[in-house]
Amino acid sequence: MSVNLPAYNRILAELAPHKARLVAVSKVKPAADIQSLYDAGQRIFGENYVQELQEKHPILPSDIEWHFIGHLQSNKVKYIAPFVSMIHAVDSLRLLEEINKQAAKHNRIIRCLLQVHIAEEETKFGLDETELKELLTQWKEQPDKFRNVRIAGFMGMATNTDNMEQVRAEFRHLKNLQAQLKASFAPGDEQLTELSIGMSGDYTIALEEGSTMVRIGSMLFGARY
Ligand SMILES: *Cc1c(COP(=O)(O)O)cnc(C)c1O
Repeated sequence: MSVNLPAYNRILAELAPHKARLVAVSKVKPAADIQSLYDAGQRIFGENYVQELQEKHPILPSDIEWHFIGHLQSNKVKYIAPFVSMIHAVDSLRLLEEINKQAAKHNRIIRCLLQVHIAEEETKFGLDETELKELLTQWKEQPDKFRNVRIAGFMGMATNTDNMEQVRAEFRHLKNLQAQLKASFAPGDEQLTELSIGMSGDYTIALEEGSTMVRIGSMLFGARY
C-alpha cells in the first residue's frame, strides 16, 4: 500500500493535544495516493511545484484545501491564485504584492505565511529578522495595498541535522520571534498567529515548541525518489 494509514492515525493523535493541523505533503506522489488519504479523512494537502499542483487540482475533490509550500516565483502566482488556500513560503514584499494582485482578480483572500530563515545552512530560503521587520512595516503602513492577502503567520525549516537540540533551538527562536512580531505588528487580530514548523523527521519537537501546522510527506506517502 502506498499510503501509510497507521502512521496517519498516529500523527493525528499526536497533533490533537496541541490543536495543530496536518498538511499532508504530496509532492511527486500520484493523485491516487492523495485520494486514498482524502478517503481516510485528510483535507489539507501541500504541494511544492506549480505545474504539478495545476495538474492535480482539477482531478481531485474540490473541497481539498491546497497549500503551496515550495519556493514560489512571482510570475507563477497567477496559475494557482484561483484556488490555492494558503502559500507557506512568502519571502519577499514583491511576492506578497503579486499574490495580492492575483487574489484580487479572483475576488479572493489568500492566506500567506512568511518564510523565516532559521537554519544554519546558507541554501535555505527565507527572510532574516531585519527583512521580516521591513516587510511587516510596509504591510502595516499600507493596509489598502494588501486587502486580498492575510499574513496568517510564519514558516520555517530547521537545519537538516541529527542534532535535535539544535533543531529545537531553531524552532524555539522562531516561536519567540513570532510572539514578538505579533505583539508589535498585529496585536489582537487573527494575523501572525500560525507557525508552520515540523516535517517527518522533526515534527514531534516542533509540536513541543509551538507548531500550529506540521508539513509531513515521506512518513505518510513513503520516500520520494
Ligand atoms: C517536502 C517538504 C516537506 C515534507 O518533508 P518530509 O520530510 O517528507 O516530511 C515539508 N516542507 C517542505 C517545505 C517540503 O518541501
